[in-house]
Amino acid sequence: MRGLYESGATADAEATISKVSLTFKIHQKSGPARRATMTLPHGTVETPVFMPVGTQGTVKAIPQHLLEALDVRILLGNTYHLYLRPGHEAIRRMGGLHRFMSWDRAILTDSGGFQVFSLSELRKVTEDGVAFRSHIDGSSHFFSPEHSMDVQIALGSDIAMAFDECTEYPADYARARASLDMTLRWAKRSKDHFEAHKHDRPWGPEPDEQTPNLFGIVQGGMFADLRRESAERLVEMDFPGYAIGGLSVGEPRELTREMIAATLPLLPADKPRYVMGVGYPDEIAEYARMGVDMMDCVLPTRAARHGLLFTSEGRLNIKNRQFAEDQRPADPNCGCLVCSRYTRAYLRHLMQAQEPLSAVLNTLHNLAFYLETMRRVRDEIAVEKAGQSAPQTA
Ligand SMILES: [Zn+2]
Repeated sequence: MRGLYESGATADAEATISKVSLTFKIHQKSGPARRATMTLPHGTVETPVFMPVGTQGTVKAIPQHLLEALDVRILLGNTYHLYLRPGHEAIRRMGGLHRFMSWDRAILTDSGGFQVFSLSELRKVTEDGVAFRSHIDGSSHFFSPEHSMDVQIALGSDIAMAFDECTEYPADYARARASLDMTLRWAKRSKDHFEAHKHDRPWGPEPDEQTPNLFGIVQGGMFADLRRESAERLVEMDFPGYAIGGLSVGEPRELTREMIAATLPLLPADKPRYVMGVGYPDEIAEYARMGVDMMDCVLPTRAARHGLLFTSEGRLNIKNRQFAEDQRPADPNCGCLVCSRYTRAYLRHLMQAQEPLSAVLNTLHNLAFYLETMRRVRDEIAVEKAGQSAPQTA
């Protein structure tokens, strides 16, 4: 397959997964990087893609019609938060998360595991699952792989994630080993339960092509051999896509890159590969060039609310006094709704005055910059092949 791409002999070798609820068509390759179209129950996504995080059924400060204007095709929902508030059963009764938040494009939900481990109090982890107390009101809850699947199915996501334990950093070998083994057992339980119940959609039974997809998550701490074992055993379970989890948890960036580089070649080339929770703009571009298809991160939205703007000229702390009368746009090379209209001076003023519009405008620009970064990488991959063959559109 790889030789086919490199020879340029075929116009457009493509791989299509047989699972009907997700297709992944690769249009062009450039080294390990690929440009593809992923088709999900709620529309198509051009990859490599950056997915904004919509923690509480909202990408903070940005209404859905503006996400559409930014051409966001897929966003994240957080299982832990939506389970606690308003509750997955309430969302199911209202027809699922898409209908509840009026978003008819694709949604990926995380398993809730990461938030259970990072936000909740008094966790107790057993083979069965995790008992924890809500960070909102201290009430007691229990998440198991089966329960995480039930919640994600009730939300109606296009892509659900297996329930995993995100191994903390640093973790020694024995700890990473034990955590990985449990995550693999949980992956099997997640898959079994998901397959048995995936038709229990909030909007009733549907044909197979409308059912959600479950991705497996590679763990293994910062040990390449454990990552290898995790990947191999997950691939045997045959998921329609794979994530690399447990990264960007405090380790140095070179180590993140090393773990991604060690894991990517072990994942099936014809299926989407997702690195969770990364990163800065130059990182997401770098990982996409390494062959990563999907990424998500709270960074562009969270940083925006603190006045940190990502631009083609580097990072800008819009609170700085030097911008008080700066008449230039945040990024002179950005054509977004914010940069084409507002000055740095105005953005700084909104921040100083603690106006809600500050979060809206800063977030809009940062998201536009992240999405544009991915668009450029996709164009690069396409250009690489131009002249050799005409790209075939799906
Ligand atoms: Zn902009």
